[in-house]
Amino acid sequence: MTTICGNTTCSHEQGLEINEKQFDSNNTNDNDAIIDFFGDKIRLATFTNDSDINPIPIEWYESDPLKRGPVVVSKYNDGMIKHNSIGAHSGPYSIYHALSIASKQLDINHKPNYLNTHPPFDFPQQKQWSIPGKIVSMDPFGHLTPWLYDNISKNENVEIRPTMSITKAVLSIPEIKDEVKKGNLIPDGKIVLNDEGEMACTKIAVDPVWYLPGVAERLNISEIELRKALFQDTNGMYPELISRPDIKTFCPPIGGITAYIFGDPNNLPKEDKRLALRIHDECSGSDVFLSDICSCRCYLIFGLIEAAKEAQKGGNGLVCYFRKEGRCLGEVTKYLVYNARKRSGDTADEYFHRTECIAGVKDARFQELMPDILHWLGITKIDRMLSMSNMKHDAIVNSGITIDERIEIPDYLLPADSRVEIDAKIAAGYFTNGHVHTTEELKKVEGRKWEGL
Ligand SMILES: [Zn+2]
Repeated sequence: MTTICGNTTCSHEQGLEINEKQFDSNNTNDNDAIIDFFGDKIRLATFTNDSDINPIPIEWYESDPLKRGPVVVSKYNDGMIKHNSIGAHSGPYSIYHALSIASKQLDINHKPNYLNTHPPFDFPQQKQWSIPGKIVSMDPFGHLTPWLYDNISKNENVEIRPTMSITKAVLSIPEIKDEVKKGNLIPDGKIVLNDEGEMACTKIAVDPVWYLPGVAERLNISEIELRKALFQDTNGMYPELISRPDIKTFCPPIGGITAYIFGDPNNLPKEDKRLALRIHDECSGSDVFLSDICSCRCYLIFGLIEAAKEAQKGGNGLVCYFRKEGRCLGEVTKYLVYNARKRSGDTADEYFHRTECIAGVKDARFQELMPDILHWLGITKIDRMLSMSNMKHDAIVNSGITIDERIEIPDYLLPADSRVEIDAKIAAGYFTNGHVHTTEELKKVEGRKWEGL
C-alpha cells in the first residue's frame, strides 16, 4: 500500500491511498508508471490544517460583491492553495474540459478573452441576493465574474470563471407558428415578432454553485450528512467534501438552468407587473423528439404561449428549463421504467410504483432548490403558475413567493398515451380543477400497447 498525500509540508497520513494491486494486474510496473507520470509531489486533496493553504475569502451572503469574494474552484496556477470551492466548473461539461486538456486540444494556460461577452442589459442587484437562505444553489454574482474579479484573478494567480451568462434570442417553434395561424396569438412586432410566430426573448444560463450549509438546511439535513452522502455516492470524487470543512461552496457535476424571459426583464421584480411562470424539468424524449408517452413538450409549448401572451399585455412571461432529465433519475432509468410499464399493463394506478421498483424513489428533483432562480430575478409573486405540480407549487410558496392562480394544461393538448402519467400525477396530488380519479378508476386508464409498433 502506497500512501500518496504529496503535500510536502504535511506529515499526516489522511491522503488518498492507491493500492498497488490496482495497477499491476498486467504490468507490475504500472504503479511505478503512474507515480512517475504524476511525480512524487501529487496532492490529491488539501486539508483544513495544512500549513500552506490560503483560501481566497468568500462570505456567501455578503451584499457587496467585492466583500463577498469570487467562487474559486480551479486548482491550476495558485488555485491548489487558494481555492475556496470544491467541485469543478461547468457542471457535467467539466469532464469534457478535462478531455480537451488531456488530448492537448486546450492549452492548460489558456486565458479567456471576455471582450463583448457581458450581459445585454444591466439587471440590478436584488436584495434577495444577500438575504440569508434565499439563494443557495447558484452564485448571484456569477454573470459578472469576469468584470468584478479580474484583478483578484490576476493578483492572486487563480482562475475565476463565470457561472452564469445572459443573452438575447429569437425562438422559432412550429406550434407557436400554428397558434399565430389560428389567430390565438397575435404578432405585435415586439414579443411575437411576425406571422411566422418568431418570439423574442432574453435568456440566462446558470451553472450550479451550492452553498453547502444552505443546501443542507433546505433539505432539512445536517451539512455533515450532505457532505458524507455526496462524497460516498460519487465514489470519493471530491475528497475535500470531507477534508475541507472550512470550504462551504461546491460546484457539483450536474446540469443547470436556462431561464427564458419574455418582456422587459427589469419588470420581473415589480409587484404591479403580472407574471406567468412555467417551471419545466427536462424531458428530452418529449421536449425535443415529441415522444407521446408524456405531456412534457405540450406543457412546455403551453407555457411558452401563455408567457408570450402575458408579456404582450405588458407583464412578463418566464420559462425556466431545468436539466433534470427523467425526474433526475436519468434516461437509462426512464426507459427501463417504460419497458416495465408496457410489459406489465400500463395503467395509471401502477405508474409511480414502476419507477419506485427500479429507482427506489419516484422522484429525485428536489424542488426545494428550484426557487433560487426566481429569487435571483427578484420575483416576489406569481400571477399565473403554469404547472399542476404540487411539489413545484409547495417549494415556491414555502420559499416566500406567493402564487395567485394555478393553470392546468388544457385536455386537448394532451397526447392520448400521456393520460396514464397525468391521471396518476393528479391522483397523487397534482393540481386540477377537474376530476381526481379513484384507485379503481386509475386501473382503467391504460396506455398504448406495444403490439404493432
Ligand atoms: Zn416527459
